[in-house]
Amino acid sequence: MKITVFGTGYVGLVTGACLADVGHDVVCVDIDQSRIERLVQGEIPIYEPGLESMVLRNVEGQRLQFTTDASMAVEHGVLQFIAVGTPPDEDGSADLQYVLAVASTIGQYMNGYKVVIDKSTVPVGTADKVRDRIAGILQERAVELAFDVCSNPEFLKEGSALEDFTRGARIVVGTDSDRVSELMRECYAPYNRNREKLMLMSVRAAELTKYAANAMLATKISFMNEMANLAERLGADIEDVRRGIGSDPRIGYHFIYPGCGYGGSCFPKDVQALARTASKVGYEAELLKAVEAVNKRQKSTLFEKLSHALGGELQGKTIAVWGLAFKPETDDMRDAPSRELMETLWAHGATVQAYDPEAMKECRRLYGERDDLVLVADRVQAVKRADALVICTEWKEFRTLDGEWIRGQLTRPIVIDGRNLFDPDIMSAAGIDYYAVGRGKNS
Ligand code: NAD
Repeated sequence: MKITVFGTGYVGLVTGACLADVGHDVVCVDIDQSRIERLVQGEIPIYEPGLESMVLRNVEGQRLQFTTDASMAVEHGVLQFIAVGTPPDEDGSADLQYVLAVASTIGQYMNGYKVVIDKSTVPVGTADKVRDRIAGILQERAVELAFDVCSNPEFLKEGSALEDFTRGARIVVGTDSDRVSELMRECYAPYNRNREKLMLMSVRAAELTKYAANAMLATKISFMNEMANLAERLGADIEDVRRGIGSDPRIGYHFIYPGCGYGGSCFPKDVQALARTASKVGYEAELLKAVEAVNKRQKSTLFEKLSHALGGELQGKTIAVWGLAFKPETDDMRDAPSRELMETLWAHGATVQAYDPEAMKECRRLYGERDDLVLVADRVQAVKRADALVICTEWKEFRTLDGEWIRGQLTRPIVIDGRNLFDPDIMSAAGIDYYAVGRGKNS
């Protein structure tokens, strides 16, 4: 099938590459010229395991092209995927300007029947807005062309995006048109062979499904963080509690890890946007607001624990930070807990000495050159002569810590573990002043 994908970010590039990989003829279009130039030269602008080889293989096989030429791109595909960003507006609602700009472009250049597919995470009712925008442009052009708009939200996770796209739990398609259902079934057939994963539903249900999924996951995290904060004050170890509740199949072990708050480009903005959608229809989503508030508070715990451990003396201190990305296996630092920590440390006159396996370039892009940010080549250099170590991201390479060694590196043996990676008793026995999340006296 001929397919066009608008946006070459995490979702657009993965969608384009995975659809090309099963033989579709895909054009990916972006307004970011430098991004497209890099892609044309075979340079992948984001870190995602397996993506580079998949992109290169499909470009080589002439099934995947990159362009900024919107008119060529619109002409190309019968399926037009919209996978551009939907960042939060000033009031937390999803900003639809990029999605609607793509709708205008499609309306401007379309020359025959098109299925316009909202893959971006967009509030309920957006498909109607996209339809109206395209219809308006066609009217201005004084042409009559048939098109449909459907919803096909994306559930991939950064860090395992290829695996999620190709072997995901479900493919949600919101449409009331048989023609669209058939075309979408054909598009996803190679990924829908062993088990029926395609779920057809109304457009509004599909749009809400995406927000409901992210809100549920964020709720699990905030719930666990709330329990961790309680455990901390009640002298219980949240890791025991986690195992205790996770063994109940109604609860399960997934997504019940306490930590330093959720980040990334999706959970924070999607929880907020869903709460705003609720207010707009006259419903106050109390639970969603609490999920967001608990998360905001949780993000400050790393600094609070560190400040407590250092007796409030941050000025002139050097703090080692392990992990900058909002989670492992990605270079994405959007809303990462590390950012709140670093910015608060700088405001208190401390220097950050940081290492992340993938997010160093992104960190430099975000913060530029500054005296109080030293980016080093590995985790060992990060702790050299630092006054304390804070672990923000649970990358595999941070999962072992030799107590004696770390004591020899830090000027004070303080370790703040935002991901509960170590046994507090072993750390204490090694002479480490160890603070975790929700672990009784060690928190
Ligand atoms: P991103 O910011 O990484 O990429 C968006 C891309 O769209 C950018 O390259 C930008 O230049 C391009 N763009 C903007 N306007 C354009 C236009 N008019 N024409 C062509 N390209 C244009 O965004 P992302 O992380 O890929 O997210 C895209 C959408 O998917 C969002 O709605 C997001 O909520 C959703 N989503 C993201 C993830 C994730 O893990 N990142 C997962 C599921 C869903």
